[in-house]
Amino acid sequence: MKDFTIVGGGLVGALQSVFLAQRGFNVHLFERRPDLRTADIYQGRSINLAVSNRAWKALRKVGAEETIRQIAIPMYKRTMHDTKGNLSFQPYGKEGEAIYSVSRGELNKTLLQIADTYENTNMHFNARCTDVDLDNKKISFVNDETEEKSTQSYQYLIGTDGAFSAVRHRLMFNDRFTYSQTYIEHGYKELHIEPNEDGSHKMDPNTLHIWPREDFMLIALPNIDGSFTCTLFFPWEGKVSFQSIKTEPEIISFFQVYFPDIIPYIPDFVDQYLNHPNSSLATFRCYPWHYKDSVVLMGDAAHGVVPFYGQGMNAGFEDCFVFDQMLDEYANRFEYFFEAFGKSRKPNADAVAELALRNFIEMRDLTGDPAFLLQKKIEGWFYQKHPDKWVPLYSMVTFSDFSYEYALQKGDYQNAIMAQVMKIPDLANKWDSKEVEEKILHLLSAT
Ligand SMILES: Cc1cc2nc3c(=O)[nH]c(=O)nc-3n(C[C@H](O)[C@H](O)[C@H](O)COP(=O)(O)OP(=O)(O)OC[C@H]3O[C@@H](n4cnc5c(N)ncnc54)[C@H](O)[C@@H]3O)c2cc1C
Repeated sequence: MKDFTIVGGGLVGALQSVFLAQRGFNVHLFERRPDLRTADIYQGRSINLAVSNRAWKALRKVGAEETIRQIAIPMYKRTMHDTKGNLSFQPYGKEGEAIYSVSRGELNKTLLQIADTYENTNMHFNARCTDVDLDNKKISFVNDETEEKSTQSYQYLIGTDGAFSAVRHRLMFNDRFTYSQTYIEHGYKELHIEPNEDGSHKMDPNTLHIWPREDFMLIALPNIDGSFTCTLFFPWEGKVSFQSIKTEPEIISFFQVYFPDIIPYIPDFVDQYLNHPNSSLATFRCYPWHYKDSVVLMGDAAHGVVPFYGQGMNAGFEDCFVFDQMLDEYANRFEYFFEAFGKSRKPNADAVAELALRNFIEMRDLTGDPAFLLQKKIEGWFYQKHPDKWVPLYSMVTFSDFSYEYALQKGDYQNAIMAQVMKIPDLANKWDSKEVEEKILHLLSAT
């Protein structure tokens, strides 16, 4: 009987516990924080994330999809707010396709709850990993509340302890372990829109709201309690930045100029801006993800990405799905399994990291650009007519099973074709014409 020790009971660690417990393995889950099923670690704040196909697929495999769907709000399109409060729309995919806003805390709690129903799972909270003795297969913990220290032996260790992983930190001392951590010039701040008095949402809840402002943006995702969680992605430094907007008059004038239509929805926006923390954003890359046949990294510990494609957790859940799939393949040669797993996932992790960085430019700048919106409209139209010949990049990443690596390459190829199409004179008036269709078909057959 295999024994898995999982460090980090966040989204990926909790799901991975369920996958392993369902296979009958012994699972020992260690989480730094208190048990979020009983402790209010989010201090009443709703923080959400967008769930799409890859996460649903993994949740479905462990039988958790329906439970999570009940706490998920479908968002069928992007709604762009300009500085005058005018709205424009961009569907995410085909009719009926949506990404889903889910509370991070509820999702995590539900997965821990499911994992806890298995007798072969043991959970330990207030257990922060401080060190790993790789050769003697021992792991050390401290309880940050009592300062009590402990050491455990492990057979197999999975590091799902997030972007600042302690397990990965230990692997960094190994020869030829490659690691990089690259911060972007923007950070983020969360703001909250409370529900109406009757509990309803103040804006359309079935859409992801974006206020694209070229070098920065605000987004809002709905919560099931009628509130919205907004995130301001903002440069740390520069003319309009966290550094330059600090005082009450500066904050008021900033919101009046850039986000006037949100002011009535967040009457205390000055207090929220002043009191909510600013957080940084980075891409984390490392390789190899394993140590011999005893330690492996998954989720953000292996590949932390910036959040602009809404794929960090989706990619982590896909790790769990693929891990489970590959377990069968490697059942009789388990000693090669962790290495093979990392090798198969790494190109996809690199691709999603690249896609996420690029999507920031698309969201903050291009979603306000008529030429970009026209291009997306043409791609969506051509996709409906020829789904066997063209799948828009966003759909490949969000609604399909194509690997991230394939999506990135195919997306670049399609973009080069669209650059030619966008040169057609008077395109805005004939974007859905036979001429445009034939041009794309011709370019596809010629390349
Ligand atoms: C602003 C923002 C928005 C995002 N939006 C989306 C989105 O819309 N869609 C999406 O798919 N992804 C999104 N993401 C990414 C997503 O949050 C992460 O990819 C996901 O949380 C990764 O899960 P994880 O379990 O690997 O890591 P985490 O969720 O970070 O969990 C790690 C766990 O390990 C624990 N831990 C840490 N150190 C130790 C230690 N030393 N010992 C024991 N335990 C430890 C932590 O307490 C935590 O519980 C977003 C991220 C950000 C920052």
